[in-house]
Amino acid sequence: MPDDTRLAADIEARLRPLEVALAEAWWETSTRASPEANERRERIELERRDLLADADAFAAIRAARARGAADPLVRRQLDVLHDAFAPHQVPGDLRRRLVELEVDVESTFNTHRGEIDGQRVDDNQIREILGTSDDPTERRAAWLASKQVGAVVAGRVGELAGLRNEAARALGYRDHFDLALATGELDEDRLFATLADVDARTAAPFAEWKAGADDELATRFDCAVADLRPWHFDDPFFQEAPAAGAVDLDALFENADLEALTLRTYDGIGLDLRPVLAHSDLLAREGKSQHAFCIDIDREGDVRVLCNIEPNERWMDTMLHEFGHATYDREVDDALPWLLRGATHALTTEGVAMLFGRLPRDPRWLGTIAGIDAARVDDLAPALVAARRANLLVFARWVLVMTNFERGLYADPEADHETRWWDLVERFQLLGRPERGTVDAAWASKIHLTVAPVYYQNYLYGELVASQLGATIDARAGGLVDSPGAGRFLVDAFFLPGASLRWDHLMEQATGEPLTAAAFGRQLAG
Ligand SMILES: [Zn+2]
Repeated sequence: MPDDTRLAADIEARLRPLEVALAEAWWETSTRASPEANERRERIELERRDLLADADAFAAIRAARARGAADPLVRRQLDVLHDAFAPHQVPGDLRRRLVELEVDVESTFNTHRGEIDGQRVDDNQIREILGTSDDPTERRAAWLASKQVGAVVAGRVGELAGLRNEAARALGYRDHFDLALATGELDEDRLFATLADVDARTAAPFAEWKAGADDELATRFDCAVADLRPWHFDDPFFQEAPAAGAVDLDALFENADLEALTLRTYDGIGLDLRPVLAHSDLLAREGKSQHAFCIDIDREGDVRVLCNIEPNERWMDTMLHEFGHATYDREVDDALPWLLRGATHALTTEGVAMLFGRLPRDPRWLGTIAGIDAARVDDLAPALVAARRANLLVFARWVLVMTNFERGLYADPEADHETRWWDLVERFQLLGRPERGTVDAAWASKIHLTVAPVYYQNYLYGELVASQLGATIDARAGGLVDSPGAGRFLVDAFFLPGASLRWDHLMEQATGEPLTAAAFGRQLAG
């Protein structure tokens, strides 16, 4: 066996049992939380982190990459290992300070509650007010309550950015933003060219849509458009389109069997997800995570989904989304080396999941799979198109704020971030900034800056992947509903190669062109 092949196999032999044990412990803590399960998960996480910090192993990986392995699958495994090990090659004391500070800020987010008139309120109460109240004073108080955590954590989030930079520079990167993109297989110039393209395609349609929404809000709150502020919108960050005027599909699903509709959707393209359903945990229960996720336990077929289903539209699209991740995990070629037996990138698996998650708003799916009568679907269709367009526009403009903000955060952790934040919000979201002194460090109330740094761009890329894959499936297989050709295309062209191809090569090979915002842009045409 050549040295490079043996190196990859040796590291796999150390990493694989830890990854499988961690996935099992993660499932256990999410479905039956207990002190023992938490303790086990923490212990395995530390063991895994120690392995990824192993300087000798990292040196061997670098040397092997520099030599250039002959076998493309070995080369690819070494690339994957390099990107997994690199961010952990940090001096022990710096690594400890980073982990402590991250845990510290995250626990402030978990325990902090904003206050309205001295009363503590949680996020659900704040969302309830912003979603329903017609009283601008009450709305303003609720919005401010959602931002109070920002002032509490801002100093530490700035410090965290500084420490992350220190670690990145020790490894030869410009700053943490540079390191995160480079080890996440993203090119910064290309990313910002894509963002500029998305900006150009969305600026005019967003401005037009926003002007209409502003008029409605000004009427509702009996004020001038110029007096609208962020608290007049439903979402504290304006990352979703307001619910008023959108289509409410919940009535269509109140008696639906979401599990059956999920299986039926995937059966229609020739993919059987009963084995995943059998291992899944789908109903709400005491002591169970309230979120939704899909997890591949062993990369040998044991794929599970966690949900907390209620018969409504949100859970219908969440089910289809999570089972999209599941079918991708299940269909990767099991002859590949274990290190390459999974989705090649977060943005490819998010793209697939988003593609399926869009189906409950697709007239064809509503008629064929959900069994809604044709006249009703025809009635709904124009509003569904408008709502989908509004959501894509609002979300794209919000990602432009986040990604530009994060680049600046790491470029200069000491900068005046509050001014930068509102400059970006005004420019991309066309929101009026609050008067000076109204709010302190609103930027730091976005938890992703702390717990998922430099990740937001993957959500936008996921939407672009969904649109481009969807367009290819429409052209080659006549759509995603009851179309076995669509399933065959996804499996053969997109799932089987696993991580043996980089995400950009996979996209180009599967769809015939590099990933761009073109198909996404066509969907905005309405
Ligand atoms: Zn997802």
